[in-house]
Amino acid sequence: MKSLFTDDSPPVQPEPPSGPFALVALEQAVDKQLHYSIPPQLRTMLQVGQRVSVPLGRGNRRTYGYIVGIDPVAGYPRIKPLLGIDDARVLVDAKLMALSRWMSRYYCCPLGTVLESVIPSAVKKRVGLGQLTMVRLAVTPNEAQAALETIRSPKRRAVLARLLQLKAGESIELARLAGESGVRPPTIKKMVVAGLLHIEKQADLAGLTPPPQPPRQLESDIALNSEQAEVFNQLAPRMRDGGFSVNLLLGVTGSGKTEVYLQCLRQVIERGRQAIVLVPEIALTPQTVRRFTGRFTNVAILHSGLSAGERHRQWQMISQGQAQVVVGARSAIFAPLPNLGAIVVDEEHEASYKQDTAPRYQGRDVAIKRAQLENVPILLGSATPSLETYWKVKTQEAASSQSSYHLLNLPHRVRGLAMPVIELVNMKEAARYRRGIHLLTERLEHLLHSTLQNKHQAILLLNRRGYANFVYCPSCQTAIQCKYCDATMTYHRAAGMGGGGGRLESGLHTGQLHCHYCLAVNPLPATCPQCNKRLTLFGLGTQRVEEELKTKFPDLRFERVDSDTMHNSRDYEKLLNRFAAGEIQVLLGTQMIAKGLDYPNVTLVGVISGDTALSLPDFRAAERTFQLITQVAGRAGRGDSPGRVVVQTFMPEDLTIQSAISQDYSGFAARELLSRQEVGLPPYARMVRLVMRDQDPLKLQKLAEQIAATVLQLAAAEPLVAVKGPMPCAISRIAGYHRSQIVMTCRGPEPMQRILLALRIGGDLARSERIAVDVDPTSLL
Ligand code: ADP
Ligand code: ZN
Repeated sequence: MKSLFTDDSPPVQPEPPSGPFALVALEQAVDKQLHYSIPPQLRTMLQVGQRVSVPLGRGNRRTYGYIVGIDPVAGYPRIKPLLGIDDARVLVDAKLMALSRWMSRYYCCPLGTVLESVIPSAVKKRVGLGQLTMVRLAVTPNEAQAALETIRSPKRRAVLARLLQLKAGESIELARLAGESGVRPPTIKKMVVAGLLHIEKQADLAGLTPPPQPPRQLESDIALNSEQAEVFNQLAPRMRDGGFSVNLLLGVTGSGKTEVYLQCLRQVIERGRQAIVLVPEIALTPQTVRRFTGRFTNVAILHSGLSAGERHRQWQMISQGQAQVVVGARSAIFAPLPNLGAIVVDEEHEASYKQDTAPRYQGRDVAIKRAQLENVPILLGSATPSLETYWKVKTQEAASSQSSYHLLNLPHRVRGLAMPVIELVNMKEAARYRRGIHLLTERLEHLLHSTLQNKHQAILLLNRRGYANFVYCPSCQTAIQCKYCDATMTYHRAAGMGGGGGRLESGLHTGQLHCHYCLAVNPLPATCPQCNKRLTLFGLGTQRVEEELKTKFPDLRFERVDSDTMHNSRDYEKLLNRFAAGEIQVLLGTQMIAKGLDYPNVTLVGVISGDTALSLPDFRAAERTFQLITQVAGRAGRGDSPGRVVVQTFMPEDLTIQSAISQDYSGFAARELLSRQEVGLPPYARMVRLVMRDQDPLKLQKLAEQIAATVLQLAAAEPLVAVKGPMPCAISRIAGYHRSQIVMTCRGPEPMQRILLALRIGGDLARSERIAVDVDPTSLL
């Protein structure tokens, strides 16, 4: 008996265990759920969703996992007993467990790994919690009553009598029990040995009580304009009454989408329910966050700058229902709200909703699944919805008048503000009349001068991704295009070309050209196919723009903002405050400055190169380009002075650039969807990507060929699945690892899920450091 209580002795198996059995998903190591017998004294306390410790393997190594089920029979004969309950709290409630199971299946990831993402590590580690020693009866009240009558010791009787006053299943702190029954703790511990009582450690939640909030003056709602009101009137009953619905709010930049979210949330809160608001990256959207905290009393902000203790406290507060609204990035979708009423996903098209480590989930899609499981509405907002969302909502809505999918429009800016005027600057032309290399054209320089003269501010955008290189012929002034598609081929260095990324000299033309649409690979021509002259690799960097700005505008107060500052939210917020105060005149940055900024004094936005995103080796390149230009243009003219946007490009005729200039989302979407349909790419197909890597290119080749053979064999039974590869990834080597990929596409997800499941069962995916499974990949690099 004793050995079941103590943690260090190996578990003994005196007799064949009888049910029920706990089904445990292990946090690490094993992609399987294992059955354990439940020691009798844990039976009343054990619940699905708790974290427990169990013995694993020959050495019975203590391992942690989560109870995911309690079953009457075990799946195999030799069952070990569970070691103990690590945390008495239910860390994953039934609905989050259902969501986790779905993720495990859909994203082909062990349930234990999914739960690792669902439960913040600060919660798991109980950071900031004291420990209470709790005592409860290990026998039924009737048995305790009987014992009370036979036990001689008055001290023991006093303890039993006190425990019998508790409600069924309730426990009491050891020190308090001792004090109230006039005994010392060792007496109580002896009763545990006698099998009457059970002692467990429990987190002391007192340490998690939030500090009292000073009373604040809340901002009042803004009166909605007629377009907003129309949208709101459609949404309000869905928000109030609940029930699953997917609502896509397609509203141009500055159309007052956030105000609509806020007033929808009020409907939810007034019903005594809570809501989750997902934002792309909390550090980048301090303004948006402030609008939520300004409007509601109890808003929990989950951002990466929280200390572990703070994070745990927030989680505890949320799980107690004390947060009305939870605002956070991707992982906030797992917030344990007890009475979820609605979910909002702001900027639903943002790539940052996708997690790039296992489980590689798409936060927006998980949000939709959670809304469905909890039977609540979800509101997705964007000026440039992802084509997946847009297509799904449109086709579902058209398919049935009873559809739960709704498209809502806000086609105009609030307060009658005009959309910014966007003009194209043809860099080919500009280069012809000017000597030297200029990343800022004369036109942009001129507009920047006059903006500064008017004491206005500007934003300059350069998507500086180093690998976004295309092969350019300076004499014909064209980039090499794919033979089969309307797309620029992308050059990437061959494996073994040495590191030193970002070098743009000509003469390194030994890699190959890739097309991200048809996945064609062509050798790089030695010279231009048209004029036979030497080719160059074309690319840009923010630093070059920075230098140019310094020479051309010596007195300019500007700051460069790029991914290096992104991790430090405080620095970014400080910088934005200085920009808001007018201390900084110009922000020069990567796509991170395209997001959510709302500064009325910004009247000029310059896109240094509208083409860099277009040349990404990814079938979503056009979509990204359209989104980027539209979003950054949306930063201009939010105040009373009209905004002006300059897009510099080498491809002025490109249809995507043209759509972006005319701010024509539906035209762009219609054309792009058509071309996706023609080649069978998402959203017309689901995609699964397997990425294999190894430091040794030969080992990689072997691995890739072996996996591909298995996949092809499995795919023989799935005629709808198309398999491509193995082939090198667009970035064929990262951090010393060579990378190869297999891409599957299929109309629906199920046939590919079956293939993945078979691979998983066969153990082919076990070595996660060598093979990554990416379901619905957002990046194909
Ligand atoms: P979006 O999210 O569509 O870009 P926002 O919700 O951020 O737009 O609104 C842009 C600005 O307009 C904000 O400063 C907001 O306070 C203001 N605003 C929103 N709705 C109205 C309205 N009905 N009347 C006046 N101003 C509004
Ligand atoms: Zn040429």
